[in-house]
Amino acid sequence: MGGVAGRAGAGGGAAPHRRRILTALRGVNVRGAPGGDTIPRPVTTQVSLIGAGPGDPGLLTILGARRIREADTILCDALVHQAVLDHARPDAEILVVGKRGGEDSTAQEEILHTMLLRARQGRRVVRVKGGDPMVFGRAAEEMAFLAEHGVPCEVVPGVTAALGASASARIPLTHRDLASSVAFVTATERPERVGTVHDWARLATATQTLVVYMGLRRLRETLATLLAHGRPSSTPAAVVAHATLPSQQVVAGTLADLADRVDLARLPSPALVIVGEVVDLRERLGSPGHLPLAGRKVLVTRAPEQAEGIVEALRREGAQVIELAALRFEEPDDPSLLQSSVRSLGARPPTVLAFSSANGVERFFAAMNREGLDARVLRGVTVASLGPATTEALQRNGIRADLVARRFIGEGLAEAVVAHLGERAAGARVLLPRAQEARDEAVELLREAGVDVEVVPAYRTVSALGGRGDALRASVASVDAVTFLSASAARHVCEALGDDAASCLRGRTVASIGPRTTEALRRRHVSVSVEAEEHSAEGLVAALCAHLQNHIEAP
Ligand code: SAH
Repeated sequence: MGGVAGRAGAGGGAAPHRRRILTALRGVNVRGAPGGDTIPRPVTTQVSLIGAGPGDPGLLTILGARRIREADTILCDALVHQAVLDHARPDAEILVVGKRGGEDSTAQEEILHTMLLRARQGRRVVRVKGGDPMVFGRAAEEMAFLAEHGVPCEVVPGVTAALGASASARIPLTHRDLASSVAFVTATERPERVGTVHDWARLATATQTLVVYMGLRRLRETLATLLAHGRPSSTPAAVVAHATLPSQQVVAGTLADLADRVDLARLPSPALVIVGEVVDLRERLGSPGHLPLAGRKVLVTRAPEQAEGIVEALRREGAQVIELAALRFEEPDDPSLLQSSVRSLGARPPTVLAFSSANGVERFFAAMNREGLDARVLRGVTVASLGPATTEALQRNGIRADLVARRFIGEGLAEAVVAHLGERAAGARVLLPRAQEARDEAVELLREAGVDVEVVPAYRTVSALGGRGDALRASVASVDAVTFLSASAARHVCEALGDDAASCLRGRTVASIGPRTTEALRRRHVSVSVEAEEHSAEGLVAALCAHLQNHIEAP
């Protein structure tokens, strides 16, 4: 449990088609399974119980990410952030298990048996839980079951919700002068049980700080219990909901008034309660209020594999980032074209190899890898790049670009190549691996200069928003600004919003990365508030900061 589903409540991370719900396996009985108990016991660590952290997928540990990457089968709690599963191999089996508010016992039994079955089939099994598996995470039951069946397992800790909430809400759990002890308690031991077995008379005042998990539904009752057992009504207390996520909300008060305040704010779960003097420190610990985008919610519509740069740049400026991928990259209609063009690199090297996107670079090098080739095959070939992200992708693959286009649009790349070739343009061969649907202006420019252009479709950009119009509309409505980093993202977002795209986006700050994207938006009557001067993610964030500091959008 723990964590919150999906990006912007609408998925977007791991390819949804890879996810299956465990109930699909209902009825699978390990004893009746192929081989069943006759299969030899695994002798290596076969199962890892991993804590995914409280919400923000960046809080997964490096070891946790490595185990997910190695996994053949992943059983993941429903509320773990989708981006955590982005670490999985494309061929990994992903089973989403459990449900909000506690797993029922059949589900738990199925989880146990599936883990065992898969481990006995020799698969590497990873069980991903919210927060830390050993804190209110039922890890012990799963470990005991595996031990009983002779399956070795390990635990990879995660950031438990109390620590996530403490950091992100700026409430230290201990403090030299105010609190030298802290207790983690749960207000709900079992969904079916009323109340808890805690000895509240002792617990209420035993530690200076108390963190109450699973306490939102029983908040009023829990606070009253603490009062009844000797905590003064003026004791500061806070509820942190969706800790570490963009949707985080904090409501602070005292034991006397917190429940009313939380009702008023209608805080959602998961949430936890922090009780103690430390809660008051929050006001003195510096909110990031001075940052240019503090308190602003910004929607990023990039594909997940491209979003990291802009997401981090926005966060550094204090923004709360909501991600909803508008695009997905797929194989081009005919992948053999890229493969055969890579195959002929050695025998027939082009004069210039020109890349207009990081994705084109990655696909090209993946194709080279499949042919058993590496960067050495490009010896003597001039490599041209469009924009910083493409140049970085080249560097990652061991190539320093010879030419970097000044204008970050397709024509800019063509101009740079033509200028570089000069008189040698006529008859030169230029290889352009790029998106199947890319526009032809750059190609025309090159051909006009007498260049022999070979365009290779390296990938295809498709909408990731099919059937998700409502999620998109809700995300747009909840943010202050929407960023568009490509004309195709603009097109897919507008298409998913339908006829009222312009009115959905009215009142939001619409930020565009450059003229092509702006044009795509204007064509759909969307008014663009700000266009980046430098056509890169950083340029867009800089433009957005400057704009938001001076403007409030008209409703
Ligand atoms: N193993 C998890 C806890 C599971 S119990 C951990 O170590 O964090 C589930 C409870 O954790 C929720 O009811 C809530 O109290 C708390 N929780 C989980 N994620 C949270 C989040 N992002 N913000 C606030 N509380 C959270």
